[in-house]
Amino acid sequence: MIARANLQNRRVCCSPTRVPINTMRVAIAGGGLAGLSCAKYLVDAGYTPIVLERQAVLGGKVAAWKDEDGDWYETGLHIFFGAYPNMLQLFKELGIEERLQWKEHTMIFNQPQKPGTYSRFDFPNLPAPLNGITAILRNNDMLTWGEKIQLAKGLVPAMLRGQQYVEETDQYNFSEWLNRQGVSEEVQQDIFIAASKSLNFINPDEISAVVLLTALRAFLQEKNGTKMAFLDGAPTERLCQPLVDYITERGGEVRTTTSLKEILLNPDHTVRGFLLRGINGTEDEVLTADLYVSAMPVDPFKAILPAVWRQLPYFQQLQGLEGVPVINVHLWFDRKLTQVDHLLFSRSSLLSVYADMSNTCRAYANPERSMLELVLAPAKDWISKSDQEIVAATMQELEKLFPEQIPHPAKLLKFKVVKTPRSVYKATPGRQQCRPSQETPIANFYLTGDYTMQRYLASMEGAVLSGKLTAQAIASAHSESDPSDPGQTMQMPITQPVTNAATA
Ligand SMILES: Cc1cc2nc3c(=O)[nH]c(=O)nc-3n(C[C@H](O)[C@H](O)[C@H](O)COP(=O)(O)OP(=O)(O)OC[C@H]3O[C@@H](n4cnc5c(N)ncnc54)[C@H](O)[C@@H]3O)c2cc1C
Repeated sequence: MIARANLQNRRVCCSPTRVPINTMRVAIAGGGLAGLSCAKYLVDAGYTPIVLERQAVLGGKVAAWKDEDGDWYETGLHIFFGAYPNMLQLFKELGIEERLQWKEHTMIFNQPQKPGTYSRFDFPNLPAPLNGITAILRNNDMLTWGEKIQLAKGLVPAMLRGQQYVEETDQYNFSEWLNRQGVSEEVQQDIFIAASKSLNFINPDEISAVVLLTALRAFLQEKNGTKMAFLDGAPTERLCQPLVDYITERGGEVRTTTSLKEILLNPDHTVRGFLLRGINGTEDEVLTADLYVSAMPVDPFKAILPAVWRQLPYFQQLQGLEGVPVINVHLWFDRKLTQVDHLLFSRSSLLSVYADMSNTCRAYANPERSMLELVLAPAKDWISKSDQEIVAATMQELEKLFPEQIPHPAKLLKFKVVKTPRSVYKATPGRQQCRPSQETPIANFYLTGDYTMQRYLASMEGAVLSGKLTAQAIASAHSESDPSDPGQTMQMPITQPVTNAATA
């Protein structure tokens, strides 16, 4: 038995490294993008992953369901960016690149002062950051020349000072940081509320400066960084299913409706097995594997953390992370409200981004009727309200966005509200130091998930990258058992953002 004092400082040893990799089983609790990406890269490296997902549907925060009419509704409106190299590489590896529907290179904002009108930031076909600078300089609806100069004076030096500087800004919320740079309240109101809400579902006076600055660096330093794509259908069918096929065709397993109830420990505090909750009156089941991964979100993982692990500083840091509430609203109308085939930034205090999915997404296409998908954020005051109250408030906001059609003549045919009380970790100042590495102090146990430490904050790209990093950590820690087998070498280039290039 290894003393607890030792546990604090080093990884606990266990035997599985002696098992040949080709037969090494890795149990992964959580079938969101991180768990599935981890399993995908593990099968590539010759391991046998077993993904265990609590819900009947895979995908976690990208999960989607069909209603009684066969219409899809989703956990969240999801946008893929040009600055998502690991996600784009994954699409390529799965052979499904054509499923990303790339939109015009522009960002479109509603104008609260002129209901029903839009202001655009059009990115010309120029190298970065010239295209971004031109897009900002050309837009005169949202920023005066004085504000543009003010913003440039504040932001440009920060962009040039590298990721190291950006990481240090985690001590400030974004409003504090902008105030320190001399950027006025008006500019904050105009652009950064929309940006904060779309990145983390909270306002600039809550969000850490590191989030906005990291995103700005990633987006603006790459020519197509801000280019956006919609998936051509529901993520469960169009992205998770190809991952499942890829994993299972290569010997892995994916089980839904399978919930991790408890992490069982050996006397030396390494993992002995995953206790899976029995369903429909069946007995709980113990699943044993050679290695174990949690791909669960941070909140449920903290709830099942074994008591003895709680005392380790590595796991204690997780107490600083907590999911933020968000609500995804779907509204089906009897007519077309707009022809805009793009994401829209509402600039409403109730709503964040939205899109008419009947224009943006092939599988939801309808030339006659609109289906709006809207993200309601910040959602802390709304998460416990009824669907009817949420829809009524949303419809009131839509009167400003579509004054010619709402409340008349457009008729709301039906709605679906999906509440996520704890979604991505709330990225307030100081959270960076709470984000854990994928490798834990327990030798046969790993973490993955968008909240674990990787460059992309809480996003689909972050989830995919974290899965890859976890697979890579497993491969480098457990590959010595059969070094003569060249097939066991991991081929998983980690694609880092341009921001890394400028670091230091
Ligand atoms: C409304 C909304 C909009 C978003 N928009 C965007 C966007 O436009 N662009 C973008 O990049 N990102 C966006 N995101 C963020 C993105 O969806 C997430 O960062 C990403 O999907 C997280 O993946 P994950 O695998 O880390 O976690 P999750 O998706 O949360 O997966 C964790 C999985 O673990 C499962 N689980 C939990 N407990 C157990 C248990 N005991 N046993 C077994 N399984 C368990 C869960 O059911 C879940 O499936 C959005 C998120 C939301 C909610």
